[in-house]
Amino acid sequence: MAYLFQIDCVRYACSCGSLKSIAKIYFCRHCLSIRCGYCVCHEVDSYYCSNCLENPPASEVRLKKYKCSNCFDCPCCFETLSIRSGQVLVKSLHTTQEESKPVTKKIYYLSCTLCRWSSRDAGIPDQTVATGSWREQESPNTYRITALINFYKILGSIEKQQKERKKFQSKRIFLQFEKFGITSTMARKRVGQLPLLQSNTQSDQPQPSEASEEIEELSQDIFTKSIDITKITTLDQRLQHPELQVENINELRPQRKQFIVKRSQRCRFCEHTVSKPDYCPTSTKFKIQLAAFYHVPELRIVACEPLRLGYSSELLLKFCNPTQHQTQIILLSMDTPMMPTTTTLQGIKEEINRENVQMGCDSPNLLPSAVRQAIVVEEGRQVNIVINAEVILPSSSFILPPRDDAAEYDDPSDSQNSQDDPKLVVWRKGNKAIIRLDVIPYVDKDKMVKDEPIVVGLAMQYGYINTIATLEHKAPQKLDLKVKLFLTLGNLVHNIL
Ligand SMILES: [Zn+2]
Ligand SMILES: [Zn+2]
Ligand SMILES: [Zn+2]
Ligand SMILES: [Zn+2]
Repeated sequence: MAYLFQIDCVRYACSCGSLKSIAKIYFCRHCLSIRCGYCVCHEVDSYYCSNCLENPPASEVRLKKYKCSNCFDCPCCFETLSIRSGQVLVKSLHTTQEESKPVTKKIYYLSCTLCRWSSRDAGIPDQTVATGSWREQESPNTYRITALINFYKILGSIEKQQKERKKFQSKRIFLQFEKFGITSTMARKRVGQLPLLQSNTQSDQPQPSEASEEIEELSQDIFTKSIDITKITTLDQRLQHPELQVENINELRPQRKQFIVKRSQRCRFCEHTVSKPDYCPTSTKFKIQLAAFYHVPELRIVACEPLRLGYSSELLLKFCNPTQHQTQIILLSMDTPMMPTTTTLQGIKEEINRENVQMGCDSPNLLPSAVRQAIVVEEGRQVNIVINAEVILPSSSFILPPRDDAAEYDDPSDSQNSQDDPKLVVWRKGNKAIIRLDVIPYVDKDKMVKDEPIVVGLAMQYGYINTIATLEHKAPQKLDLKVKLFLTLGNLVHNIL
């Protein structure tokens, strides 16, 4: 995040080649890599209604067609409808008493607090019970859709049986009771089969739909009649209920509220979960949350002098360490290899083998491989961005202290680090530091695209403490990780000096 409303000023490069702001990426602790939305599997954990917070099990959700049975959306503005109650006078049916006294009866209707739509305006009769009695509009094609679904279910089961039979036939030669024509296993299978599959499919096949060239003629006054736009439904309103797509506002009917989902994200490379929300719909907490802004130092652009071709401009960048461990930041050029490295006790730098990292430990919530969906890994692509300015990289590194929420309130005077290079670090407080860099937009006209914003690229190496215990490393392991960053600095200033 660079600014509150311009989150794409600083972008982090994912291993797949996409560029995302830090708010939109994950950090897989097992692969020690940044993972974007394309590099994680999105899995539905639970369904719930955003209004009444009901969360039925998945099988029930399917029966309810992914809609809440108690809550309705306004067909006009799509807000949640509220149930209002009123009273009406009804003549008592019990005439045994001397006078038929009118009795008050409670009735309910639906009303939208935002656009004032109400079920009474639409001509829906009031109900005597608050929930459960509101009928949903029937789709005119329900019969056809059910017939098609049933037919394809039959087709599916036939296909499955044929596959099983093929498997069985290939094994057949090894069976002992071949000479009797039928084996015991085969006989058992026959009992479970649908009788006479071929003829069955023929008769159950729904009527195929036919294309027709004859269409209803438009009425004569279609071009001359004046239209009252307030009485005609908008495209959004029609598409909210695609089966009916009514034309007039007064034909709109309340829609059952769609269930929304809680998703968990799983790394496609090592299959460990990077984000898992709490199952309960009332909770906004996470069981696992490996969002990158908890693990990777955040970079923001503080200020940048006006940019001129071939002239150096000062750029102030603010770094923030979100972890509980001190980290050392080194800024490197874009062509640095991105392999994570570690320094051994002997002081030798060595590269970390990714395969060893991935095999680290099994996540306890990893499903058996037969249940999980097959994981498709996208091949990494080149980052497709034109860098049109050079950044003068500092020769020294700087330290970011661990995050300490209480340090926010400390006296800022004692927060200067004496080891800092005063030319590089201009400000420091708690786990944050501002550094000064110089940027020179390329003079090379061929590389410049007119009015394109100036983009600089650099690689950031940061220290990371891996607290996951593996077979090889029981103690927390100190690693040096790298990430490529792309900063959009703004447009050139077009004045000649
Ligand atoms: Zn990615
Ligand atoms: Zn609901
Ligand atoms: Zn409304
Ligand atoms: Zn991973």
